This record gives sequence, C-alpha cells and structure tokens, in this order.
Amino acid sequence: MIRTNASLTRRDFLYRAAAVGGSALVLNTMNAWGMGIASKVTAPPALDGSGKGKKVVVLGAGVSGLSAAFELRKLGYQVQVLEARSFAGGRCQSARKGFTLQELGGEAQHCRFDDGHYINHGPWRIPLDHQSTLYYTRLFDLPLEVMVNENDHAFVYLEDGGPLAKQRLRGAQIKADMRGHVAELLAKSVQGRQLDTRLSADDQMLLLDYLTREGALESGDLAYKGRNGRGYAVNPGAGLTPGAGTPSDPLAFHDLLAARVGKVYSAVQDFPMHATMFQPVGGMDAIPRAFAKRLGNAIRYNAEVQRIRQDAGKVTIDVRDAASGKLSSVQADWCLCTVPLSVLRMIDTDLSAPMKAAIKAVPYAPVGKIGLQMKRRFWEEDDHIYGGHVLTDLKGINTISLPSTGWQQKKGVLLGYYNYSLDAIEVSALTPQERTEFALAAGEKIFPAYRNSYESAFSVAWHRVKYSLGGWAEWNDAARQNAYPILLEGEKRVLFAGEHLSYLTGWQAGAIESSWQQIERLHRRASA
Ligand SMILES: Cc1cc2nc3c(=O)[nH]c(=O)nc-3n(C[C@H](O)[C@H](O)[C@H](O)COP(=O)(O)OP(=O)(O)OC[C@H]3O[C@@H](n4cnc5c(N)ncnc54)[C@H](O)[C@@H]3O)c2cc1C
Repeated sequence: MIRTNASLTRRDFLYRAAAVGGSALVLNTMNAWGMGIASKVTAPPALDGSGKGKKVVVLGAGVSGLSAAFELRKLGYQVQVLEARSFAGGRCQSARKGFTLQELGGEAQHCRFDDGHYINHGPWRIPLDHQSTLYYTRLFDLPLEVMVNENDHAFVYLEDGGPLAKQRLRGAQIKADMRGHVAELLAKSVQGRQLDTRLSADDQMLLLDYLTREGALESGDLAYKGRNGRGYAVNPGAGLTPGAGTPSDPLAFHDLLAARVGKVYSAVQDFPMHATMFQPVGGMDAIPRAFAKRLGNAIRYNAEVQRIRQDAGKVTIDVRDAASGKLSSVQADWCLCTVPLSVLRMIDTDLSAPMKAAIKAVPYAPVGKIGLQMKRRFWEEDDHIYGGHVLTDLKGINTISLPSTGWQQKKGVLLGYYNYSLDAIEVSALTPQERTEFALAAGEKIFPAYRNSYESAFSVAWHRVKYSLGGWAEWNDAARQNAYPILLEGEKRVLFAGEHLSYLTGWQAGAIESSWQQIERLHRRASA
C-alpha cells in the first residue's frame, strides 16, 4: 500500500531526518504528522448499555462494514448490511479459479489458476502492529502463515543502475557491502582523528569497535574485504571440492553509489513493513468469509444503494437489486455508511453542502496488481529464493513478489507487478492480455525461465473497479485538515466509517479501527 507522490516526499524527508537526527527525530516528525508509530487499538470498544429495539443499516460489507455489524449486533442492535456486490469483503478479495472481475469499460476476466492457487489482488499482508486485524483472525480461529515481506536473498534489479545496471544483485550483497564500505570510511575517519571535535576519545574507541564488527572490517587496516553473509561465489560443502567454498568479492563502493541502489532498496524498511508479516492460509478473503458466515442473512447482497435520505426520526435507503434491477427501500433509526468516498460522491443524498464537499475532497489512489501462474517454481528451483520481493526500477513493475506458500510444490502464483499513480493508470489502459505481455516482458529480464513457465494471469486496476474506484484514500494535508473532522462527525443519523477515516489508509486495520470508533459514536448518539 501507500506509494504516492505525497507519501514519497514524506518518506524522503524521513530519510533525511534520520540521517541528521537519528530515530528520535524521525519518531517526533511522524508523531507531529499524526502518522503514529503503531496502531494502539487491540480490541473493540467495551460499550455500556444496549441497542435493543433500534435498527442500524450498514452500507457496505467490506471489513469496515462487517466488523461494525458484528460488534453492533453484540450490543443488541438490529443490523442490516446492504452490499452491492454478490459477496462480502469489498476490496479484501482473493482471486482463485472461477473468480470473475469486469473492470469498468473492460472485458470480463475469469481466473483460471489451478485448484489451490490464488492471488490476493487486494490486501495481502498483515503487519504485527495491526492488532485490530489480528484480533479477528484470532477470534475466528483463522490459521495464519508467515508472509515473507523481506528476503535478502531475493534480487534487486536496476535497469538504470549505472555500473551495476541489469545485474541480478542479491539484497544481502548490497546490504553487506554498503555497510562494510560505510563502516570502513567512518572507521578510518575516527582513526584519522577527523571526528575528534564530535566524539570523546572513549566514544571513538567504542565506535571503532562497533564499526569493525558491523562492517566486518579487518582489525589491522580497517578495510572491508567482503563477508560471508553476502554469499559465497561457491558455497561450502563436503570434502575438498567444494570444501571450504570460495568467498565472493564485494561490489565496489563507487559502483554501489553510482548505481543509486537506494531508489529501490533500503536496509531498513518503512513502518509497518516488517521482514515477516502474516497472511491467512488459503487467501486473505478468509477474513470477510468468516464475518459473513457469522452475520448470515443480516447481509443483503446485490443491494446497490442509490439514495440516502434522513428526517428527524429515521433514515431511508433506496436500493436497486443489482441482479434483478428491482427497486426497494430500507428504513432504519441509524445508518453507518462504509462505502468508499470515491463511490459515495456519486450517490444521491440529502447531506448538507459542507458534508458533500468533504466527501468529494478526498482523492483515491490508482493501484494495479497482476498474478501470474507459473508451471514451475523457477525462483525456488533455479535461484533458491523462497518468498519476498524482487525490487526493481522497471517502469510500471515496481515489485515482483514470490509466493509465501506452497514451498517446493510444482506450480505457484507470483505477483508480476504492483503499480501506483501514473504507472498504474498507464498499465490499466491495457487489455488483460497486454498487461500480461507487459509483465512477462519485464519479468524475463530478471528470470530467464519467466516466459516459458507462464500459464495464466489475473490482473486488477482498482481505480477501474466498480464499487471501489481506487485502491485507498489518498489524503492531502488540506483535506485532512478540513474534510476529515467533518466526515468523522457524520450528520445526524448518518455516520461514516472505513479505511478512509483513519491514518492507516490502505490497511484493513484502518477500516476496522475506524468502525470501532464510529460505532462508539453511533452508540453514544443513539443512547442520548
Ligand atoms: C492493492 C491493495 C493492496 C492492499 N494491501 C493491503 C495489505 O497488504 N494489508 C491490509 O491490511 N490492507 C491492504 N489494503 C487495504 C484494504 O484492502 C482496505 O483498507 C480495506 O479492505 C478497506 O475496507 P473498507 O471496508 O473500508 O472498504 P471496502 O472494502 O471498499 O468496503 C466497502 C464496501 O462498500 C460496498 N459498496 C460500494 N458501493 C456501494 C453501493 N452503492 N451500495 C452498497 N454497497 C456498496 C463495496 O462493494 C464494498 O464491499 C490493500 C488494498 C489494495 C487495493
């Protein structure tokens, strides 16, 4: 998630803040921006009183609407969820055999992956910080497996990488060699007394000791000559051949600098991208399926909301059955609307002018993904890469991600691109077949077996998906300041929730925690 021009600028700034002020400055800066450090909420609010005798209509059965409906029912409210799609989950979808998607203005794609294979073309990873999402996976007993989010053995491939262009570098090589070279430089500065005015003699000794270990420097001349953690040229083994193996030579410092590896690679990932994350076994849509099972016929599917009206005593929702075209109305005491603002702005409401303006103020991110089924797991068999991301500057590709499930099986579905912003718009203009060709042409630059192993594809451009119209809300500072408080407050009997009403936009935790906050607000209002 979250790769925007605005956030990249912030990220650049954070890197610079880290360089000059260390982590304390970064943390302060993030807090000042309200980005927070971790989602602090770990359980739904414990609310007093009862909602008995009151009806709430929840618009949308994404994880926000589902979690709200689940919690409101526990409080005694009579809940009806209106969902335009024929299934629950909203953006939380997994494409497997039989799954169909028709983007606006596009042809229908039918997923043809083999049984047991899937792509999480929406959410695909749960960070340990998102205890709200993990609250429900635990509550519903959903088995999780590790999602390898960072793999030092995966390739970094730079088309525009100066002296290192078009080489399959391993993340570990870059990490080891950059640390080694920087440590050597710094250690020699300490030795040459160039830091005398900055550091006491004792601290200089301690720093030298640290740098020697951190950079694997020679103790005598403080030179970095490589280390085994970057990988061997020939791995050690039995007997005399390969015996002790053959060490590898480090990449030259100048080459690494000239390659500007930092544009795709960072030894320390951004929050909350930990090296290992979680995924539900069998697909992320296990989460909405578990909610839907428990909510049963409280969810009405194919119920496309077309009009929202409220008066002093009730809310009236006009609905069109997306399957039959039949029109009907639903009345309730309260409404919690979790429809994305990108869609809500086109629905007929009698909300006030400032509220309508707030709904329109928030842009949504263009985002695209493609899953490619490969008949052979060449990344494991040929290159010994088990999960993680291949990082690249190939335009429109960004990341090729290898599955964190099905190790050593015959086939696998990998993520062929994950694009944002203008790249996502450009690629989304292609037909599904052209997108596949685009992904294959890029992937075969890195993996020789890519094209020949390809079997079938499934792609999505979220900004072209009906009922979503974007990957996630992409707030700018002005909208955060002006529209956000208005939306949080809601209007009389209509309240709002969803990932867009959080600072965890683009995460399920944002959707869930927003619902937890907004049902508290609704309950307070309903109990007054
Ligand atoms: C490509 C991508 C990658 C992501 N990666 C991650 C990740 O790794 N981890 C993570 O935690 N999160 C991730 N997210 C974010 C996560 O998917 C969302 O934050 C979350 O699913 C949003 O839930 P929601 O309930 O707020 O909205 P939605 O899921 O959009 O739910 C809104 C619901 O409203 C319904 N609706 C729309 N219009 C109408 C209408 N007129 N009438 C009735 N119903 C209507 C929709 O069909 C939908 O079901 C990712 C998202 C994308 C797109």
